Amino acid sequence: MKRTIDETMHGIIRSISIALTVAFMSLTAAAEEKFTVVIDAGHGGGDTGAVGIITREKDINLAVATKLGKLIEDNFKDVKVVYTRRNDTFVTLQGRADIANKAGGDLFISIHTNSIDKKARNYRTVTGASVYTLGFRRTEENLAVAMRENSVMKLEADYSTVYEGFDPSSTESYIIFEMSRNKHVEQSVAAAQAIQQELVATAGRRDRGVRQANFWVLFKTSMPAVLVELDFICNPVQEKYMASNKGREKMAQAIFNGFREYKRSIDLHTATVNGGKVASKGKNMPKPQRKLTPVDE
Ligand SMILES: [Zn+2]
Repeated sequence: MKRTIDETMHGIIRSISIALTVAFMSLTAAAEEKFTVVIDAGHGGGDTGAVGIITREKDINLAVATKLGKLIEDNFKDVKVVYTRRNDTFVTLQGRADIANKAGGDLFISIHTNSIDKKARNYRTVTGASVYTLGFRRTEENLAVAMRENSVMKLEADYSTVYEGFDPSSTESYIIFEMSRNKHVEQSVAAAQAIQQELVATAGRRDRGVRQANFWVLFKTSMPAVLVELDFICNPVQEKYMASNKGREKMAQAIFNGFREYKRSIDLHTATVNGGKVASKGKNMPKPQRKLTPVDE
């Protein structure tokens, strides 16, 4: 049958409108896509992390991580929480990054408890919280923290293969971080600053500032990522605080407040840039307002 111009035009218009509907539906789907936060309780199982007099790092990390996840789940219906571990089990550093990447995380929060060399004169008095992002502002102190946290990989028999020949205790090994480009540095720093501010304001921690160091879990997670060092387990006063339920609740609340602030700034920015139509999942975040706190020790 011969089609009239009118019929042909109708056909074209119908095709265009179908295409537009499909495009609109996929935009809506993108807008409704949940923000995923990956909460990583450092250490676990046979890996205790730093050990204090009355408690162990792995237990503090898990308690704070669990409380943080609950706060987010209770207060944000549009946020999906993924945990790298929910109980006292060992997960490798690469395994943690794999979980985060597979979940398509929008923010990775690793929770740790700090400690320093037993021989240091301030072993029992060192105090304060700091939040780390991946970075190259190398200082000996920050390198020591990264070396301690990365050393966990030596618990794996085949760590040399899994970690591509990386030796966590060799300074030279850290050159691999410098050869990589960190795409999420601005967002990571923004999240770190928001959390750091709250660890001071809400949990009353001494401000050790936002810092940079090369942690494997931050290196291998393909999303904005931060690593929180709550306070020092080697300081008995801080250890007692972190061993208490009240202290753990305060810490979780502080990280939650920081998360809320970071999420708010992303949502605001997304709405401004895209007229609220498409969730860019925080891809074009504004630059951090504050400069990095200089390392003072
Ligand atoms: Zn740790």
